[in-house]
Amino acid sequence: MQFENFVGNAALKKALSGAFSRRMLPHAILLAGEAGLGKRTLAGILARAAVCRGGDRTAAPCGVCPSCIRAAAGSHPDIRIVTGSGASGAISAESVEKVIGDAYRRPEEADVSVYLLFVEKGISDAAQNKLLKLIEEPPPGVIFIFTAPSADILLSTIRSRVQTFTLRAPEEQEAAAYVAEKAGISMEDALALSALHRGNIGRMLSDGENGRAAKAARLAGEIALALAEGTEHDLLAAAAPLIKDKPLFPEAADRLQLLFRDACMLKSGVRMDAQDIPLRVSRRLPLKNLLRLCDLTAQYAGYMQRNANMALLVTAFCAKMRETAGK
Ligand SMILES: [Zn+2]
Repeated sequence: MQFENFVGNAALKKALSGAFSRRMLPHAILLAGEAGLGKRTLAGILARAAVCRGGDRTAAPCGVCPSCIRAAAGSHPDIRIVTGSGASGAISAESVEKVIGDAYRRPEEADVSVYLLFVEKGISDAAQNKLLKLIEEPPPGVIFIFTAPSADILLSTIRSRVQTFTLRAPEEQEAAAYVAEKAGISMEDALALSALHRGNIGRMLSDGENGRAAKAARLAGEIALALAEGTEHDLLAAAAPLIKDKPLFPEAADRLQLLFRDACMLKSGVRMDAQDIPLRVSRRLPLKNLLRLCDLTAQYAGYMQRNANMALLVTAFCAKMRETAGK
């Protein structure tokens, strides 16, 4: 099995992979762990592997067969997702009744039907009692995958009939390397996030402010490269997300200033641990223009009118940057 986007957890991967290769995957699985550890990611991988038509079980989910493509798009008929509803967010007896009515039909395309039950917010006792018989004597070719913060959320009767796999956060270094790549932030920033969240990748990625910081940094990188290497159209396209995200504008401008500052230092011969983008920018633009770009972006980072027309502001910003860059 392949575990794209699911980091760490080597022992758990080995166990699941081995069982899957031997066609011995349990018919009822519980993936337990706190929010952000990748329960739904792993559940999705297992579901896609189960319906994959690729043939090679060690490479499943292959990602390219028609089944994988439909599954990735969320439209595979044999993968059903059951989530909670209502104020409590718990899975209701009615939702479970639908599963029961459905589980005895034959799969439409794959050899198996997979039910993903996301129990993060709980599941009513009535719902669990209804599920019990189905899990005790499952129809052939049906796999149930539960996700929950802890096994305790399930009644002991259900718990004793599912095989529990407990997810853990990867090593902080490993989590940081993944997040740095995924969010386009420096390894240093990623390590700080990793230490803060003890390697919990979901929290690292979605952490409100840090998530925005990562987004601003990524966007700034794209804008800087479009300015240095691309056309006017490339620059406008790179900056377009700022039109719809007003608070992101000053953050992105601030990040741009840091990029241009690094490019200036590189251009002036300062030896530093250079990252790819400032290096590429420094190769394309003269020092005096880079210095003026620092000033310009600093000015825009501090400039944010409450009622600014964002489309006009972003367009003007791009035009000023190109002019300043000597384009
Ligand atoms: Zn496939």
